[in-house]
Amino acid sequence: MDERESGKKPEADLQSRLLANITHELKTPLHSILAAANLLHNQIDGPLNDEQRRQVEMILRNGEQLLEQITELLNYSSNASGTYRLIISEFDPRALFNGIFAVMAPVAARTSVTLETDFSSLGPKFSSDRALIQRIVSNLVSNALKFTPAGGKVSSHARSTSSGGIRFDVVDTGIGIPSEFQKAIFQDFFQVEAGDARRFGGVGLGLALVKTAVANLSGKIEVKSEPGKGSIFSVELPALVPPERDVLVAGRDAGLRLTLEECLRTQHLRGTFVETAKQLFEAVAQKQPELIIIDLFEADGQRESGFEILTAVRAAQWGKELPVIVMSALGGATERSKAFGAGASDFIVKPFDVAELVARINGQLQK
Ligand code: ADP
Repeated sequence: MDERESGKKPEADLQSRLLANITHELKTPLHSILAAANLLHNQIDGPLNDEQRRQVEMILRNGEQLLEQITELLNYSSNASGTYRLIISEFDPRALFNGIFAVMAPVAARTSVTLETDFSSLGPKFSSDRALIQRIVSNLVSNALKFTPAGGKVSSHARSTSSGGIRFDVVDTGIGIPSEFQKAIFQDFFQVEAGDARRFGGVGLGLALVKTAVANLSGKIEVKSEPGKGSIFSVELPALVPPERDVLVAGRDAGLRLTLEECLRTQHLRGTFVETAKQLFEAVAQKQPELIIIDLFEADGQRESGFEILTAVRAAQWGKELPVIVMSALGGATERSKAFGAGASDFIVKPFDVAELVARINGQLQK
């Protein structure tokens, strides 16, 4: 995991923050409206007649469309304000691409557009900001579907490149983009068919968002298009290597150590393993860790318990703010409240699922 501030655009900062606040304020009541409409639609409080059902469906359809547009504005404002922090992790790109297209399949089916994908040339691992890539691909595919009439085709092919990056394209047989607009479509709010007569939904921010996201990921995007024939959006993204960050682990269980070593490695975290408070204090001085994991082992001989180590960390000046994840074989309320009372930031019960531990570690590192 790595978090980097993306390039700042000071002049856009205030405006984007304002936009972010407004869109956030709009989203909250809209969620309540949609929740109420969903309750009505599911006839929880009694049956609806056909006309009422039709009206509720209209509220839902338009509300969801509005929510999508507000979400787009919100994403755009967080990108444009330069406050977006890259979160770099290693993931399976095939799973990511397949997931995005699985969500889009019903949209394609509804509009009678054929969806074709080939992700077999993607390697099993890629390191970058997963959420940003998802945003890029989703925007390109939803545009392709939006601008392709019934009977057309949208296809996507992705592959790993020889330099360790990925390259993918989103190809459609839709309306195409006149060459004089192929640059402008990436500008904020630009739409080829502007004005009240627009046939297509959207606010004209999707591609601006895509462009910023691609730039934040140090990638490149190109468009080739011919009116009446279709468009090809091609994106190339390099693998981003996160700098290693240090994590200290206090534990005395060899099996647990092996699991943790593997788990930290996949997250580009450098684990240092210690068994006593003294070793932990020495390691802190050398490594400046960003996270401490403490197994709540019992005291043995001269060596203190995991709980005593937790207390010692929180008593130290440097340990007041550090995130500390505590592990224990006991998951009961007593053990948890004792751990949280002593200053644990998070708690995980052994044996744990590695994915859960990774999520908890990342959750702590993002704070
Ligand atoms: P929106 O889709 O909300 O209008 P975008 O920023 O995503 O905004 O796209 C800007 C404009 O670029 C669109 O309004 C449309 O005119 C054009 N465009 C984008 N993708 C395509 C496509 N695949 N085919 C044809 N036109 C497109």
